[in-house]
Amino acid sequence: MSGNRTFTMIKPDAVENGHIGAILEKITAAGFKIVAMKYTQLSKRDAEQFYAIHKERPFFDELVAFMTRGPIVAAILEKDNAVDDFRALIGATNPAEAAEGTIRKLYAKDIGENAIHGSDSDENAAIESAFHFAGREIF
Ligand code: UDP
Repeated sequence: MSGNRTFTMIKPDAVENGHIGAILEKITAAGFKIVAMKYTQLSKRDAEQFYAIHKERPFFDELVAFMTRGPIVAAILEKDNAVDDFRALIGATNPAEAAEGTIRKLYAKDIGENAIHGSDSDENAAIESAFHFAGREIF
């Protein structure tokens, strides 16, 4: 059982393809409450810092270029067991392996341009939320 908050980003591909509304609808229909949200664009420095754990991976430069090429929607979501339930809602990193009906199965192109981010632990949810939001922006 995970805690009651997670962090998400609707990634540039899903924004470009006009899927913000449909994705937010799926998130709220699944019982998540939006407690913080902003439409913003990551700088190169932001993306490098956010994905620092992947900096030695071969896809790192491509990931930073992708995540900075256009706006994203960042949000903090609240629900019992938020991290685990949200990872189930978005599906596997690679949409080819994602379960039917998951957000990545519906809206992602491939393992890189995969439509949406979801924190993978309570600890990372807290770090990622603090990276994007000040306390006064969380309701
Ligand atoms: N990624 C990629 N190529 C890969 C694996 C991951 O471009 O082979 C990107 C993809 O956008 C993914 C992000 O790097 O969402 C972070 O990877 P992670 O393994 O943490 O997957 P996630 O937690 O997002 O499912």
